[in-house]
Amino acid sequence: MMKEAFKLKAADLAKEIKEGSLKGEDLFLDFKERAKQIDSSLHSFVEIYDEPQSTKGDSSLKGIPIAIKDNICIRGKRITCGSKILDSHISVYDATVVKRLKEAGLLILGTTNMDEFAFGSSTENSCYGPTRNPWNLERVPGGSSGGSTAAVAARLIPFALGSDTGGSIRQPASFCGVVGFKPTYGRVSRFGLVAFGSSLDQIGPITTNFVDCAHLLNIICGFDKLDSTSAKLEVCDFTKALVDQIKDIKIGLPLEYFKEGLDEEVKDAVEKAAKLLEKKGAKILDISLPHTEYAVATYYIIACSEASSNLQRYDGVKYGLRAKADNLIDSYKKTRRDGFGEEAKRRIFLGTHSLSSGYYDAYYLRALKVRTLIKNDFQEAFEKVDVILTPSSPTSAFKIGEKADDPLSMYLSDIYTISVNLAGLPAVSFPCGFTKDNLPIGVQLIGRPFDEETLIRAGFTYQNLTDYCKQLPKIAYA
Ligand code: GLN
Repeated sequence: MMKEAFKLKAADLAKEIKEGSLKGEDLFLDFKERAKQIDSSLHSFVEIYDEPQSTKGDSSLKGIPIAIKDNICIRGKRITCGSKILDSHISVYDATVVKRLKEAGLLILGTTNMDEFAFGSSTENSCYGPTRNPWNLERVPGGSSGGSTAAVAARLIPFALGSDTGGSIRQPASFCGVVGFKPTYGRVSRFGLVAFGSSLDQIGPITTNFVDCAHLLNIICGFDKLDSTSAKLEVCDFTKALVDQIKDIKIGLPLEYFKEGLDEEVKDAVEKAAKLLEKKGAKILDISLPHTEYAVATYYIIACSEASSNLQRYDGVKYGLRAKADNLIDSYKKTRRDGFGEEAKRRIFLGTHSLSSGYYDAYYLRALKVRTLIKNDFQEAFEKVDVILTPSSPTSAFKIGEKADDPLSMYLSDIYTISVNLAGLPAVSFPCGFTKDNLPIGVQLIGRPFDEETLIRAGFTYQNLTDYCKQLPKIAYA
């Protein structure tokens, strides 16, 4: 590999490719070798391709390798969603984001591990086994996009795509010390993203820094007629938001996000980040999001309801696994019994129950009403402030196995990220420090709908004041 190319920003590597001092194909081979060698201890990839998917196309990122979470369709390639039920399924079309990446000349290197159907916060719920955190192999990388964040953190790939239904880009980004961006609902096409919670899901970039994040957003954002929830809005050039200036920005700190349950070290690092932004000219205000305490319950009712409905399609007829049976009903039963893991089954039960007649009004309908209250909280807050700053997760990366038998405590690790999906807002997690055990800590910024630019500007400014984004885990040098 060009001397330590893995340490460089993708945008800088792309410049070298443009100038002719580096070839995209060579870079692909170098990253492929690197990924093959180091990933045996991380298990962040499900599949590493031998050849790039396409080499045509052009953009400011032409020639740069990228990895894709294994719930986004790449034509002619396996898509597993970390589930046995899809193990043998081949995508018959490209997701819109994949089509755009190819048209932009990026080189897809492979697919990354994830919790089955994106159900989880640790990447332990994959039928292929867990991914490990590059900062400490005994720890989880977070989830469900833990494969993508671990691969980026260890610099096995310059950047990757993930998906975020309740925090699955931001929480693992915080556990792995990288930048994870969830765009506004409707900003990025969901066409070709395997549905989990259709009213919550968004695809977003996982990068090592805000410059690459802005470049990648430029490629994947924008209206798509193949997604009926896609926003018909002009997309600006996000790289214009890479400005080191935040004097006009008002930042709100929500009381409810700094209460019990928050680890002291995380709290200190996040408060320090707020102080640093204040020093740089931003105004810090205390705010309140009073319905925060209902977010986890509301999310799990809505997300499981939508998931149970979306997973009906895996019946052994249309996709992947088909269990041998004497009749159709038995075939459905056996396929779903053998194909789905424990967490997927739990969510199907919870969701089907919430949607069943007699319980629909008490659970699903009520959750929708609380969702509106949560959304209104944000709307009111954004009358006073431009962005909201919170921890990304209550703790740093926990141990593999630690929460595996305790789904409720696992669900709580998304307490700071899920309201954002319920309200459809853009938000980003980026590194703001390390614990005394040398595990990354993440801070989250939440923005107004379709105001990704202010998040990029604030994050970029912060990144220039600190060097957390530049620190690499030891394994990156293996
Ligand atoms: N961890 C949350 C869940 O298990 C969020 C997952 C996600 O964003 N895909 O549902």
